[in-house]
Amino acid sequence: MTTARGYAAQSATSPLAPIQFERREPGARDVQLEVLFCGICHSDLHQARDEWGGSAFPMVPGHEIVGRVTRVGADVTKFKVGDLAGVGCMVDACRTCPSCKEGLEQYCAQTPVYTYNSKERDGKTPTQGGYSDVLVVDQDFVLKVPANLDPARAAPLLCAGITTYSPLRHWKVGPGQRVGVVGLGGLGHMGVKFARAMGAHVVVFSHTDKKKQDALRLGAHEVVVSSNAEEMEARAGTLDFVLDTVSAPHDINAYLGLLRRDGSLVLVGVPEKPLPLQPFSLIAQRRSFSGSSIGGINETQEMLDFCGKHEVLSDVEVIPIQQVNEAYTRLLKGDVKYRFVIDMRSLKE
Ligand code: NAP
Ligand code: ZN
Ligand code: ZN
Repeated sequence: MTTARGYAAQSATSPLAPIQFERREPGARDVQLEVLFCGICHSDLHQARDEWGGSAFPMVPGHEIVGRVTRVGADVTKFKVGDLAGVGCMVDACRTCPSCKEGLEQYCAQTPVYTYNSKERDGKTPTQGGYSDVLVVDQDFVLKVPANLDPARAAPLLCAGITTYSPLRHWKVGPGQRVGVVGLGGLGHMGVKFARAMGAHVVVFSHTDKKKQDALRLGAHEVVVSSNAEEMEARAGTLDFVLDTVSAPHDINAYLGLLRRDGSLVLVGVPEKPLPLQPFSLIAQRRSFSGSSIGGINETQEMLDFCGKHEVLSDVEVIPIQQVNEAYTRLLKGDVKYRFVIDMRSLKE
């Protein structure tokens, strides 16, 4: 066993605090990483505060991980010591169900093994995430991070990146299409960058007027303040696709109304309460309402390679781990441009 150091929540109401715990010795197919950077996803906060129910403690959050390979098992072929590598939301899956066989491990029939707040395939060992100095993961769930990408700015690609890239690809967003991105946070700002890089016309919907200039700088063609009824009315029935990344309860019908006939709204945000749906929002124009979860391992690698080629990176504020609780408070207030990333060297301080 290797002793790991990190930060954990001991309960849904306690702040994150230092912890020591054991990681397994790398097996034949395992890669051991020194964690360099880990992004702070709103899902970390939802789970650390048990907002979705079923959280297990102590919990070391973190699933936007970039690290340096320090050890490899005897059968590891994909990585060698010194490589830059990434780990996202999953560290394993059943590998035999139809979804796993299609490379859609995020929809594994057994549910994938998530990077933290989950159990290893033995059904009992808790997994612990990237707010820590060392990680041991099966090579099949470790990604190659293109060498031209700044590792701190690449870390959020492992969740915020793939979660927005995957639905844009699945719904075939491209040139000539008008795409709405609702909520300009960690996911939203990546959605804007990807939709723009894929050639779409991008409209950002933000609930205050504070992010207008940033949205344009990040690549949006238009910015709408969603509380402004006139601005919303002017876009009714004009969009082909809407990506909803909002983390809190909100009126979904207002965004369905923006879609043209046969348009799709895809939910990636996971507010802690149900979102009431007005049937006519869908029926009136044969609209679709769907959801999407992260992305498969192959698609995550495709996304990282796309980012390497097009130089797509997250806009980040790098913090030491000692500021993680303050970062959670600021994330809830929307006070982040546009992703907090923890510099894990700070654990040594
Ligand atoms: P984030 O950085 O906090 O961004 C969320 C954005 O939602 C905010 O920036 C804000 O945008 C908007 N928002 C927040 N409170 C709001 C309110 N009361 N009313 C209206 N809008 C509000 O969070 P994130 O890390 O991007 O995550 C977003 C959501 O996606 C979370 O629920 C997270 O758990 C979920 N998620 C899902 C997946 C998946 O696989 N489906 C993966 C990762 C994360 P504006 O200020 O621009 O309005
Ligand atoms: Zn996430
Ligand atoms: Zn499976």
